[in-house]
Amino acid sequence: MIARVIPLTQTRAIRGLFDYLLPVELEAVGVGSLLRVPFAGRTLLAVLAELAETSELPPERLAGVAGSLDARLPEDLVRLATWIADEYCSTPARALQIMLPPGATQGLREKQVLVATITPAGQAALREGPGGPAERTTAGQLRALQTLAAHGPTQAATLGTQLLRRLETRGLVSLNLTVQPRRAPHFNVSSASASAPPLTAEQQSALRPILEALNVAEALGGGAQPREFLLHGVTGSGKTEVYLRAAEATLSRQRTVLILVPEIALTPQALSRFQARFGDVVAVMHSGMSTGKRHDEWLRVARGEARVCVGPRSAVFAPLPDIGLIVVDEEHESSYKNEGDPRYDARTVAQRRALEHGAVLLEGSATPRPETVFGASRLVMRQRVDARSLPAVEILDMRGLHNPLHPDARLALADCQRQGGKAIVLLNRRGWSNFLSCGSCGRVWMCPNCEVALVLHQAGGYVACHHCGHHERIPGSCPDCGSVTVARHGAGTERLEYELTTALASERFPVLRLDADAVGLEARAEVLERFHAAPSGVLVGTQMVAKGHDFADVGLGIVVDADQTLRFPDFRSEERTFALITQLAGRTGRGGASGGRVLVQTLEPAARAIVLAAQHDAETFVRGELRRRKALGYPPFTTLIRVICAAIDPAAVQVAADFLRERITAAAAADSQGFAVLGPAPLFMLRGRSRRQLVVKGVERAAAVYAVRAAIDAISADRRHREVVLSVDVDPQ
Ligand code: ADP
Ligand code: ZN
Ligand code: ZN
Repeated sequence: MIARVIPLTQTRAIRGLFDYLLPVELEAVGVGSLLRVPFAGRTLLAVLAELAETSELPPERLAGVAGSLDARLPEDLVRLATWIADEYCSTPARALQIMLPPGATQGLREKQVLVATITPAGQAALREGPGGPAERTTAGQLRALQTLAAHGPTQAATLGTQLLRRLETRGLVSLNLTVQPRRAPHFNVSSASASAPPLTAEQQSALRPILEALNVAEALGGGAQPREFLLHGVTGSGKTEVYLRAAEATLSRQRTVLILVPEIALTPQALSRFQARFGDVVAVMHSGMSTGKRHDEWLRVARGEARVCVGPRSAVFAPLPDIGLIVVDEEHESSYKNEGDPRYDARTVAQRRALEHGAVLLEGSATPRPETVFGASRLVMRQRVDARSLPAVEILDMRGLHNPLHPDARLALADCQRQGGKAIVLLNRRGWSNFLSCGSCGRVWMCPNCEVALVLHQAGGYVACHHCGHHERIPGSCPDCGSVTVARHGAGTERLEYELTTALASERFPVLRLDADAVGLEARAEVLERFHAAPSGVLVGTQMVAKGHDFADVGLGIVVDADQTLRFPDFRSEERTFALITQLAGRTGRGGASGGRVLVQTLEPAARAIVLAAQHDAETFVRGELRRRKALGYPPFTTLIRVICAAIDPAAVQVAADFLRERITAAAAADSQGFAVLGPAPLFMLRGRSRRQLVVKGVERAAAVYAVRAAIDAISADRRHREVVLSVDVDPQ
């Protein structure tokens, strides 16, 4: 047999399938099996893509497969890898690498432990006591037998393996190697209950078409047209309950369910609701778990033992068989886009998987993307579950003010403290201040690698680059002019936390901070848990504080700098601002009678995104966005592809960018639909590399992607450009 494999290498120039002889002892492998093959003088991991009877190469030129691993990818994921490679201008090998079973490359296996069980002879020995066969049994051995009799099979190590071995030779116990699954943690969130509440009228109407689609999908089987729904429900409208009911219906049809969430640590509630409702059939996969746990959860999913899989972006590759429903919760979240190559968008991949499996795709959000509104059937829920109103949103004009907080915001926080309430304060900038400058000569402290200002982190005593991680001690004096007056500009979360702590904090009114400085899932989950448990207090943080948490008792929300996202030179900036305000409002006023209060500080009080968010008018906002995007030729009416060339040598970057531009323009000229190439435009230096960017804008997605892919393949094969690092981003965020 001939194994046609994809060697797992990062190199773009290596592509296509490679033939190897499959030794007889390995003939049990199948498509998706992980093999070891000799390749260019090394042994590489490879994925079996096809089995063939013959090869076009003469037998003497064929090397043999060196070995195989236990793990095997399902066939549909192997196909998906090729699709991703094409769709995102990457390679199948790179796509396969991010789909591998966790720990596969280290040869990780299930954990096996030795388990002792008492035999009938052992039971008899216990009953007979001294004088019988137990005569030769030591006190320690007797105790072990008693434990086994009382507690049933027990891990040998806890009783002493040596001792048990001796009992085993006498036939009194049996010892067996048993697989011990490493299990994912259960998130115990108090609000999660196992019983399903009766649905509201809006939930019922939203669920009906989903259930109908599930019936149709079942009748047609795999390969049917996917049905795609957008559950557009205001915050607190009970979207999760709709997901749960749809999941239940899917499970009862013997199919499986994939649930994508933005980040587990920030939304433990959603996960815990699934665990509470469905129990053990729920598998969890996220980066905060050990490789061992992720490996075992992966196996549970692949074997069909777990039939619901919940996880972030990467869980879109969960090896679920026969998927009937894919849910994308908070579909507007940018974390669904992968930042490394392949720069896949989990929402688009979910669409593809839904198509392949004949599954229903259900995307939910209070602030859906215009793309999704355009493409999916929309199911609207306008009211909060408890019919409580959405919080009143007030816009505070910051023009002419220098303090980071508006006087009204200070008053509101002081009231909140006096009344023992809870508040969330959102400021989308970490650190203390956003830049430092010299008081006499105006020097601004910049990152030596990135052409961006360094951010002060007061508590740590350093200034840091938020792009490359470079940091240095807080400067004592200016290296240019020697002046010792260093000015700090703008406020970050750290400074705000400090100021609020000084002004308001007490034992019963803690001031907590949540941002990317709290590294690791535990640290973040812990801050959220402390805020949840506190009777009152303030949570200060970056946009993380506005993500799906369900705190019953937050009465006040403050957006410190609503313009921060507006100032980004990006066609999605308005959308981000709208989402941020709406999501923060969504955290506010759950519980309490009034619905709560939200204050939005801005230098542009008339900005459309801000005004419409204050009116809770997602409908008008998204329709306006779609009109604007159509007029300007932005997605979903076109496809954008961004190509970045980077290298130490600026001249090499320029040459590569020009080469790409020429190639893609030529392809565009040959294409009747046409697409445009913008640039190359210079970008700020990052990690010591000069950068240039091209943007390809095409009406015909496939043609534009194809042209870019062809140009990238050509440049990767050309050794003159080998020092230039290329990154291709289809649908950049
Ligand atoms: P969303 O995701 O739309 O913001 P959630 O799913 O977090 O809303 O639901 C908000 C709250 O309402 C949760 O505490 C949830 O348990 C509760 N809830 C949802 N549906 C119902 C229902 N039909 N009856 C009572 N409570 C419900
Ligand atoms: Zn100076
Ligand atoms: Zn830097």
